[in-house]
Amino acid sequence: MAVFNNVSFDNHEEVVFFNDEASGLKAIIAVHNTNLGAAVGGCRMWNYESDEDALNDVLRLSRGMTYKNALAGLTMGGGKSVIIADSKKITNRAELFKAFGRAVHQLGGKYYSAEDVGVSTSDIMLALEETPFMAGLEGKSGDPSPFTALGTYLGIKAAVKHQRGLDSLRGLKISVQGVGHVGYYLCKHLHEEGAELIVTDINKDNLDRAESEFNAIVVAPDAIYSQEVDVYAPCALGATINDITLPQIKATIVAGCANNQLAEQRHGESLKEMGILLAPDYVINAGGIINVSFEENYDEAKATAKVEKIYDTLLEIFKQAEIQNKTTNVVADEMAQKIISAAAK
Ligand code: NAD
Repeated sequence: MAVFNNVSFDNHEEVVFFNDEASGLKAIIAVHNTNLGAAVGGCRMWNYESDEDALNDVLRLSRGMTYKNALAGLTMGGGKSVIIADSKKITNRAELFKAFGRAVHQLGGKYYSAEDVGVSTSDIMLALEETPFMAGLEGKSGDPSPFTALGTYLGIKAAVKHQRGLDSLRGLKISVQGVGHVGYYLCKHLHEEGAELIVTDINKDNLDRAESEFNAIVVAPDAIYSQEVDVYAPCALGATINDITLPQIKATIVAGCANNQLAEQRHGESLKEMGILLAPDYVINAGGIINVSFEENYDEAKATAKVEKIYDTLLEIFKQAEIQNKTTNVVADEMAQKIISAAAK
């Protein structure tokens, strides 16, 4: 399995593989960059088809965290961890997450973990029994999802303001792919502002909730791309902007909370050619990590005020992309790289 030659390897400082026979833990922790501070990024539990898939994911996600934390103005580096397991099937959560806590502890504070897909704050509390290097804790900053949703909602507003000059989402049609933790709170904001919602999910309970609470129209998972909407908000998993979905997309804005939305960087160029405005994922979905950064002496008002800055950051990215005739994802990367390089000096 290639590591240094992996397509997603990007000068990562440290990539560590953990195996704990007693609990069955198989995990990879990737510390991408610590120029701005200790690496912070959640832990994802996923039933990866191969170790290569898990490695690829953790390399991409950890790089994304470096860029996300830099552009959000945080003094935190970027890292991420993955546990190779089926979150719905494991029966020894306590043993597994305690072993994960010990794995994180071995990095001596270079990496702080938190919840992500397949991992809850209660799992993180289990890991906390073995190491202090955990964030997003119950009784402190707590569930990051409502803050991620607030940032995503404001990011959609920034995109609509930039492209159409509108200050309100009233009457706009917005498709939301995935109405889980973040998608649910996002739909709440959008519904309250008078947007019409079209949603999909593979979880029936989540769909029923969105349908009854927000009057959302439900469509099949594969039908979400071709909806006649103003905004498409990917809020499930990554790589949904790809060669198959691109020709189907009718929205003129792609703005959602999912990580790694572009299957490949070139798909950002395709969106630009199609006249579709992309809110770069790691900028629009930074609300959760911004909230986590206020963990010590937690102050919700201060955290919220910082999340609200996502609106201005995105407006600046959209403006620069136009001036420089570049894709929004390239402009965001360049802005982040500047901050990270300056911190190294
Ligand atoms: P979640 O697991 O609570 O929600 C995801 C939802 O997507 C679930 O309801 C799931 O059933 C649904 N889903 C899965 N596959 C699907 C498919 N093929 N089609 C339609 N729906 C599908 O996760 P979440 O915490 O809401 O996070 C959503 C995304 O946002 C993830 O990509 C995550 O990495 C990213 N993100 C989350 C946060 C956060 O604060 N939770 C922060 C930054 C980024």
